[in-house]
Amino acid sequence: MKISEYATPLMAAWQLTHDCDLACLHCCTLSAPGRKMPGELSREEALELADRLAQAQIPYVMLCGGEPTRVPHFLETAERLGRGGCWLKIETNGQTLTQEMAARLSELPIRSVQISLDGATEPTYGKMRPGASLDKAVGACLLVRAHGMPLEITFAPAAFNIREAGRVIELALSLGAFRLNTGKLMAVGRARLLWERLRPSDEQYADFRRKLDRHREELAGRLELCYEPFSLEEDLAGRAAEPPGTLFILPDGRVALSGGMSHAVADLRTQSVSEAWAAYQKAWLHSRVRADVDRVAREGVFLGDPVRSHAWVPLSNDFPDGVPTGKETA
Ligand code: SF4
Repeated sequence: MKISEYATPLMAAWQLTHDCDLACLHCCTLSAPGRKMPGELSREEALELADRLAQAQIPYVMLCGGEPTRVPHFLETAERLGRGGCWLKIETNGQTLTQEMAARLSELPIRSVQISLDGATEPTYGKMRPGASLDKAVGACLLVRAHGMPLEITFAPAAFNIREAGRVIELALSLGAFRLNTGKLMAVGRARLLWERLRPSDEQYADFRRKLDRHREELAGRLELCYEPFSLEEDLAGRAAEPPGTLFILPDGRVALSGGMSHAVADLRTQSVSEAWAAYQKAWLHSRVRADVDRVAREGVFLGDPVRSHAWVPLSNDFPDGVPTGKETA
């Protein structure tokens, strides 16, 4: 099916905040303590939006950030969505996941909790995530499993941690994860600013890829290794050919096209879910956006402000009449 055939999004990826307890070197949202996006939704607005997403029958909602568990109404939002019929995925760094949070989440239709393990040793993990504790992240993984929730792990490779990828895979297996997600480091956000320091070499990537191929075969049926598309460029090239069915919601309620693209195409503060979905579909098909996607895929250069890479530009800059209404010439 094509994107235009879906009456509602297949999924919503909702960044609840850009605030975070950490300031990781590779963070694609440039999150840090106290670094909220201006105008983030209030509790009332977030709960109301959760109700609308559930009423729109979006089957699957991913809550992410920033660190979503830092949002005071995180659990209430998850509960509104879960009790409204949405499957949930929670992305967290695991540093502050509590027993109470795990217990309340486990009452909901949780498809998975995803925790990042960017190293198999405390020094390597702490180098990517200054001030964070691998022990705490592992403890959060155990908490998730102890409450019967499916666990996913992510591993973001950089020049200094890529050699530990095999040990992270073993760790994920020992923790009872069902999936590990990885791929090339994305030159987005803080990673883009620190690119020369973080970027693995071609040789490192070749070795990493061989390791992943080998482990994928060995671990088939026990741990799913997901690393395709391998790079954001490949991912965007695929999206240019077949736009995704995922609504990408920013902390202030605007809808963006995707990470790595700087266009905001709708605003759920003022538009209904169906209006935002129609605008999102049209925007992906617009010639200007498709040219931008092609350029990113071809040149590996991400669009937007290099310092504030998520300073989303209203697509109204490209559409003379404001956000897409469905009447534009594609
Ligand atoms: S990568 Fe995740 S945990 Fe690290 S600063 Fe960004 S949002 Fe926070």
